Amino acid sequence: EHQLHPADGDRARELDRLILHSWSKHGSTNPFTVARGEGVRLWDHDGREYLDFSSQLVNTNIGHAHPRVVEAIQRQAAELATVAPATTNLRRSEAAERILSTIDGLAAVFFTNGGADAVENAIRMARVHTGRTKVLSHYRSYHGNTGAAINATGDHRRLGNEFALGHVHCFGPFLYRSEFWATSEEQEGERALQHARRVIESEGPETFAAILVEPVPGTAGILVPPPGYLQGLRELADRHGIVLILDEVMAGFGRTGHWFAHQHDGVRPDLVTFAKGVNSGYVPVGGVIIAEHILGTFRERPIPGGLTYAGHPLAAASIVATIDAMTDERIVERAAHLGADILGPGLRALAERHPIIGEVRGRGCFWALDLVADRGTREPVDASVVARLKALLLERGYVPFTADNRIHVTPPLVMGDDDARVGLAILDEALAALGSP
Ligand code: PLP
Repeated sequence: EHQLHPADGDRARELDRLILHSWSKHGSTNPFTVARGEGVRLWDHDGREYLDFSSQLVNTNIGHAHPRVVEAIQRQAAELATVAPATTNLRRSEAAERILSTIDGLAAVFFTNGGADAVENAIRMARVHTGRTKVLSHYRSYHGNTGAAINATGDHRRLGNEFALGHVHCFGPFLYRSEFWATSEEQEGERALQHARRVIESEGPETFAAILVEPVPGTAGILVPPPGYLQGLRELADRHGIVLILDEVMAGFGRTGHWFAHQHDGVRPDLVTFAKGVNSGYVPVGGVIIAEHILGTFRERPIPGGLTYAGHPLAAASIVATIDAMTDERIVERAAHLGADILGPGLRALAERHPIIGEVRGRGCFWALDLVADRGTREPVDASVVARLKALLLERGYVPFTADNRIHVTPPLVMGDDDARVGLAILDEALAALGSP
């Protein structure tokens, strides 16, 4: 049934020259060729098998080709593959119901095509709701590649895209590379909050529509915030009538061992953006989950925005099947177990053997290895070291997620304990083969 032909791989690479790939110079990439996926495994056209420790772009939380999700999409495709957004459709209604069942105290869902336009629309809602413009977000963040979302992004991808007004950035907490000379998590959290408070005061609190943060910044390095930080932002938002938007696009839907990362902190958001894990990316989709008091604004006046594919039936069917399967198979609990019992201890043990690992941080199936040239100075390794490590891992059948000087260990949440241990052993071997940085 799943015949793999080496010639198809050659043809895929040949025709790949017709594609301008994301974030790259045309013709400069040599993308890893993937033919098939099942569970936590991928195969290339030569039949080589890989363990997926990336979940692609940290989105295939339920693994590849989950039979319930595949079947739901197939059934929906035959029944009604697409429908206009201004219709009522049972699958879409059920998708909203399932999403709202994973989060307390929020009232409705606005569907988009992916994460960036989820952020885009959340910012728009905050601006309409408050009548203000400015958005405060973190330098260490990624919020997507569209107008307001890329301007809210703090990392280097914002540069060259700064065409929008009203975006202000601050440093969030990150003890290992503290901007605040902090020596404890508590200090780091307090000082980062004080910094955010001063930025808002200096910019004019009455000019802010939103504070927009990832509850655990993902691409920026999996930066679990100190206890109290998110709650502090909540209080800051409340004091000044600012909307708190939590961007759960990467951290949401089980990745951290709770349905949403902010649920570890017990903080109450006004808007939550989601995509990726909501249906593990089988069909592109995202959206905004909206609190009742913001929804009130859109009872008074229409939301000034919409998309042809909002609540697309194939996406909706895949959301219903994904959330049902995650619930029935206790997949969020599995993510918590993998983090607490296998990945956390296993990665910390690797750090004891390999001085290149400066810090291990994360929770659930959301971990980063911060690689350093020198443990004393914490100087990051350069890109060539990460590229070599990536090649060593791929050779050994391990698909990594890399960013800057880091390896992010972000497998599908359905990974078995034994596969997770195999991955840790491959990491150990590849780090040993890498030698000293
Ligand atoms: N927000 C966060 C936190 C993300 O990690 C991403 C993508 O990685 C996005 C937004 C953008 O999502 P998309 O690529 O689906 O537009």
